[in-house]
Amino acid sequence: MRLLIIGTGYVGLVTGTCFAEMGHRVICLDIDAEKVSNLQQGIIPIYEPGLEEMVKRNTAAGRLSFTTDMTQGVAEAPVCFIAVNTPSSKDGSADINHVREVAKAIASCMNDYRVIVNKSTVPVGTAEEVSMIIQGSLDERGLNCGFDIVSNPEFLKEGNAVNDCMKPDRVVIGVNSERAATIMKEIYSPFMLSHERLLTMDIASAEMTKYAANLMLAARISFMNELAGLCELTGADINKVRKGIGSDKRIGYSFLYAGVGFGGSCFPKDLRALRALAAAMDYSTPLLKAIEETNARQKQLLGKKIAAYYSEAGGVVRKTIAILGLSFKPDTDDMREAPSLVLIDQLMKGGASLRLYDPVAMDKAQELVQDSDNLCWCHDEVEAATGADALVIVTEWRQFRFLDFVALRHKMKGKVIFDGRNQYHPEEVVKHGFDYISIGRKAMFAADDVSPEAKKLRQLLRVLLAEATSG
Ligand code: NAD
Repeated sequence: MRLLIIGTGYVGLVTGTCFAEMGHRVICLDIDAEKVSNLQQGIIPIYEPGLEEMVKRNTAAGRLSFTTDMTQGVAEAPVCFIAVNTPSSKDGSADINHVREVAKAIASCMNDYRVIVNKSTVPVGTAEEVSMIIQGSLDERGLNCGFDIVSNPEFLKEGNAVNDCMKPDRVVIGVNSERAATIMKEIYSPFMLSHERLLTMDIASAEMTKYAANLMLAARISFMNELAGLCELTGADINKVRKGIGSDKRIGYSFLYAGVGFGGSCFPKDLRALRALAAAMDYSTPLLKAIEETNARQKQLLGKKIAAYYSEAGGVVRKTIAILGLSFKPDTDDMREAPSLVLIDQLMKGGASLRLYDPVAMDKAQELVQDSDNLCWCHDEVEAATGADALVIVTEWRQFRFLDFVALRHKMKGKVIFDGRNQYHPEEVVKHGFDYISIGRKAMFAADDVSPEAKKLRQLLRVLLAEATSG
């Protein structure tokens, strides 16, 4: 089938390419002419494992093309997907202006029946609004060609997006017309060969499902981060607690990692959007509020721990701190709302010098972090650690899993590792002569773990934790 995907960002490019891989003929459209021109030359705007080869293969086979021409796209494709960004407005609500613009643009050039599928994450009621925009425009043009609106939220995870799209856990279709439902089933039929994974429902429920899925995952992360603080205060170990509860089939292991808080392009924005939607209806959502507040304080916590560690030495001023991992999670170069940005800001304000390294997000990070003489962008983890007083793990890229602690000990000036992702066994790190401070686990000290200094520092961290999280 011929498909038009409007918005060639993370979602549009990945889903469009996967549709092409399954044999559909896909036109990806964007208003960003430079992005489209780059894609036409095989230059991919995002890092996503497996995507580049797939784009090139399908472009060469003539199944995938890129354009800025809406009239041509709508003329050729009976099904138009909307996959544009829906950022936060000032009040936190989802800004659906790009969706509205696209609806108007489609309506201004459609001449026959079209299915308009919304893949962007949008508040309940958006499909209805899109429908009104299109109907209004067709009425103005005196055209009665008919159309259907479908909600088809996307659940891909950045870093595993191609795989998620090719083998979705489920495909949610919100639809109120048999004709459109049949077309959507046909589009997704190549993805259902092993078993049926298509869930058809009404449009409002489909729109709400996307928010519900993201916020359930965000809730699990904030829950674990909140418990992590209690673990530190009580002497429990959050990693052990995770295994203890994850083994319960009703709970499961996924999304139960304590860390530096969640970021990215979806969870924070969708949380704000659903809270704003509820507020507009005078419906209170204390749980959603708590997820957001816990996350905000968690993003500050690692920086506060670093400051507490150096408090006796006058703070982080003139300390050199190496940060490993800048993207909001591994296997992506996406820096949107990344916890690393909060930490960089805290440490820079505290007067530290930073040595930064990420396997793929360096360019995007450089666009967001203000340049300074106190910043050094490094080529690998060893260069970052060289001469550093402290090493901080912020994003758990696989290549950081087996750090060469012996080499690091020689390269670094100081001897402390702050691990925002609980990647290492504390005993192992301490054995190599490092102090080791992680999340939701007891801080461990190399010199003498029961020395008065170690006790004092541990007490300081406890006070800090209580202070940072009280009220
Ligand atoms: P993105 O910012 O990466 O890409 C959006 C693209 O839309 C951009 O290339 C932009 O130029 C284009 N665009 C904007 N207005 C346009 C217009 N009028 N006409 C044509 N193109 C236009 O965004 P994204 O991350 O792909 O997200 C898209 C939607 O999907 C959002 O609603 C998001 O919440 C949702 N979503 C994102 C993810 C994710 O992991 N990124 C996952 C699931 C759902």
